[in-house]
Amino acid sequence: MFKEKLEQWKQLLRNDIGIDLGTANVLVYVRGKGVILNEPSVVAVNQKTGQVVAVGGEAKNMLGRTPPHIVAVRPIVNGVISDFEVTEEMIHYLLNKAQTVSNKIFGPRVVVGVPSGITNVETRAVRDATRNAGASEVHIVEEPMAAAIGMHLPIEEPVGNMVIDIGGGTADIVVISLSGVVSAKNICIAGDQLNNDISSYIRSEFKIIIGEKTSETIKIAITSLLPGESPLETQARGRDLITGLPREVVVTDADVRDAVSHSIERLVEAIKEVLEVTPPEILSDIMHRGIHLAGGGALIKGFAEVLSEEVKIPVYIADNPLTCVVRGTGIILEKLDKYRDILIADENDISNKTY
Ligand code: ADP
Ligand code: MG
Repeated sequence: MFKEKLEQWKQLLRNDIGIDLGTANVLVYVRGKGVILNEPSVVAVNQKTGQVVAVGGEAKNMLGRTPPHIVAVRPIVNGVISDFEVTEEMIHYLLNKAQTVSNKIFGPRVVVGVPSGITNVETRAVRDATRNAGASEVHIVEEPMAAAIGMHLPIEEPVGNMVIDIGGGTADIVVISLSGVVSAKNICIAGDQLNNDISSYIRSEFKIIIGEKTSETIKIAITSLLPGESPLETQARGRDLITGLPREVVVTDADVRDAVSHSIERLVEAIKEVLEVTPPEILSDIMHRGIHLAGGGALIKGFAEVLSEEVKIPVYIADNPLTCVVRGTGIILEKLDKYRDILIADENDISNKTY
């Protein structure tokens, strides 16, 4: 009886938390408050002391600008957790920012979205890190599943839903029906690859070297996969390959189209491959209901049109594609029991096992 009452009080007092551990951005959702934090997934570490110097936007501004002993790292690269300790520090930082006093006493329940296809070892590391940071319960969900829930797709019904989440490091292509993944593919062609394409192109065409932030700025400013009526252009500053001195060039949307065309083709190819192995009934649902795009890459101008033309299926861009996953974790928190099936089971939790 007392235990039950205590449980009820806990429910009332704590603010459950949802986290999207993306390769480019981490977002935090607090039940009752909404999305309270949205920061780049970058951590700056002092290598002499091993201490974390900055997390998020502050650390991202340090990228390429640090003295030798400070390194700004992205702990999740290509959908893989490359640095466990730094990831743990980042989760600590995020939870601290989201914590209220009552949360600190009771420990929040936390739903974490992780890149699809991460290994058991990585999942366990995220689980442990979140628990160490003070969570009373940790639930892990694959990001594309959370994105589908964030888009309010009827994933638990017997109909096919296709979601493509194009993030920084990876693009997740999944088909979901009856709360399960029917077919899927995860490729390392996403926002970062396009940035690299742009900097390689500028290096070979204009003979200047530009930094990662500059190529991303160019991408967001003038990418347009279908040529428009008036050309778009922007300035890019970098270092001249021959003189070693700074130089500025003008880059147009046609340059960017050229630069990214190969990656876009590979992305479309991967999507076709997933469609090819999707059972016919589900394929017919998708033809009827369309393909849904999430993640920052959904905003690449012209991508939805190009894809739709290639696969002959309507393509829709989610509202606020960058926050789909974290909003999905929020919806899961509201109805944990309903969504238990889609969570990645905790191998240490006997109650999840069936014998
Ligand atoms: P992740 O889930 O991997 O953290 P996000 O879904 O947050 O990734 O998306 C980040 C990626 O989206 C970055 O590569 C960023 O450059 C790209 N992006 C953001 N906005 C735009 C835009 N308007 N046009 C093209 N790409 C964009
Ligand atoms: Mg993501």
